[in-house]
Amino acid sequence: MRYGLFGDIHGNLEAFEAVLEDLRRQGIDRLFSLGDIVGYGPDPNSCVDVIRKLSIPSVSGNHDWASVGRSDLDYFNPRAKEAILWTKKVLTEENKAYLKRLPLIIEGNNFQLVHGSLKKPADWFYILNFQEAENVFALMEKPLLFAGHSHVPIVFCKTEGKISCISDSRLNLKEEAKYIINAGSVGQPRDGDSRSSYVIFDEGKREIIYKRVKYPIAKVQRKIRKAGLPEIEAARLSAGR
Ligand code: ZN
Repeated sequence: MRYGLFGDIHGNLEAFEAVLEDLRRQGIDRLFSLGDIVGYGPDPNSCVDVIRKLSIPSVSGNHDWASVGRSDLDYFNPRAKEAILWTKKVLTEENKAYLKRLPLIIEGNNFQLVHGSLKKPADWFYILNFQEAENVFALMEKPLLFAGHSHVPIVFCKTEGKISCISDSRLNLKEEAKYIINAGSVGQPRDGDSRSSYVIFDEGKREIIYKRVKYPIAKVQRKIRKAGLPEIEAARLSAGR
């Protein structure tokens, strides 16, 4: 089985479509979303519609729950808050009901999915350093955890009691190790590369492959400006920050 895992679409339909097209070309068996389908971007409804139409299981992100009143708005900086309030205003009732029902954790055969962290998932912690990774490794019930939230693609590996950080685009999974795999972001990458990021997990080959996909950034920027969303959300897409 080959899985396609992606997250932090953030209402960026053009980026999402480019990633889906890339996944289709490679004949991936199953897709999963790591949350933050909405927020920041100009097409929250279309992105939720696609996820629902393709029946892609998704965990909730902080933006998903905040846009439907399930998560506290105080967590966000003023610009993110402004985008969430805009999203809340434009979301259809059907899509709001769908986002409200999203779970915090999804369990696969040998992996778990979460948006931020397994440590109090509704508090949306980031896994950015070895200490946080250590806390999460202790909570993992399966050898693999896929996450998003930071918008930065990175792998933490724990083997023989030691944690290391891996940023290779291809990775062979060791039998005895545990891994936290951040898929990066589809709709708002923040690692200095403006292309959408996602991962393929090849279960048979025990392999993780990071993919980057180009999409028409200028078109999305025009939509963001037209919608009256904060300018920074348009500008940062070209910088990948
Ligand atoms: Zn996000």
